[in-house]
Amino acid sequence: MIFDPGHGGADPGAVGSTTKEKDNVLALAKKIAVILEATGRFRVKFTRTTDKDFCAPIAFNVDLDLKNRVKAANSLGGDAFYSFHNNSAAAKAYGNEVYALAAGGEGEKIAKAIRARMALLGMTDRGVKYANWYVLKWTEMPAVLIEHGFINSEEATILEKMDQAALAIAQGIGDHFEVSVSGNTQKKRGYEMKEAVLAHGIEDYLVPARRESIKLGNCAVFLRFDDKTPPPDVFKAEHLVIVGGGPVGHPNETILSGKTWGDTAAVVSATGA
Ligand SMILES: [Zn+2]
Repeated sequence: MIFDPGHGGADPGAVGSTTKEKDNVLALAKKIAVILEATGRFRVKFTRTTDKDFCAPIAFNVDLDLKNRVKAANSLGGDAFYSFHNNSAAAKAYGNEVYALAAGGEGEKIAKAIRARMALLGMTDRGVKYANWYVLKWTEMPAVLIEHGFINSEEATILEKMDQAALAIAQGIGDHFEVSVSGNTQKKRGYEMKEAVLAHGIEDYLVPARRESIKLGNCAVFLRFDDKTPPPDVFKAEHLVIVGGGPVGHPNETILSGKTWGDTAAVVSATGA
């Protein structure tokens, strides 16, 4: 899926009293992506992850921005396109709207699924709407455009509800694709330990190994003898520091071994705090 945080660079979008649309929607889109990717079922690609417009190196103009934005989205490819905005109006206005190009397509179905979740946010529900906007029309995939709040009259709400809105939008997308989205973004840990030290098991290595372990927050110290196969538990650590002896094939290993235990002790002393 393609996420398109609206505006950017020279184009701030709508401007509130303390924030700009371009920044709010970038933050929102990133939050949604984190939630969706944590399910392991979605991969999000962005038209922009930084504060940029799509006209550089020439001066910003909205037509070129939209054209290049859509070109970028189409070349990234994806099963659906999501553009994120804050609304603004001359008069006071409130609420969320989700746009699709027209009734009857998959874009409308996605818009309805997102709207159903956003309607529960405690903001005004303005429903699903249809518009012939450039990014909806010219993207070569189902496309929706989400207006999260009116920055001219409910900027504080937009900011306060950003986390909830991110979850609601992610869950709406999940509903459409029949993926359960819990909002739990804790990475499933493949490792049971953050750090571990593997020491050569002869006595002279134990002092530097212990010193390294203290530096790493008192992590576990494993021993091996004669540079042979280490205890299998070393592979449960996310990061393994080897004090004495050669590599063990851990995917994230740091070797602090010198030629002798004295060299090793010197290497350990030289590293870290
Ligand atoms: Zn906008």
